[in-house]
Amino acid sequence: MKVPKVDQEKCEACGNCEAICPEVFQIMEEDNVSHVIADDFTGLEGCIEAAIENCPEDAITYEEE
Ligand code: SF4
Repeated sequence: MKVPKVDQEKCEACGNCEAICPEVFQIMEEDNVSHVIADDFTGLEGCIEAAIENCPEDAITYEEE
């Protein structure tokens, strides 16, 4: 299964990923960076790919685990 991850060192909390794919990405108040909040990505592949394309920091990876 491909699993998305956010590199919190790179994330600048622009909000794009959360806006595009809120089922998967959420900026958490406690650290103000994006986190992956889902554990089942079935049917969400398209919005994950769109979030990756629209991340200005290239902070999101999406690889097989
Ligand atoms: S799109 Fe990238 S930089 Fe913006 S909040 Fe998401 S992970 Fe962070």
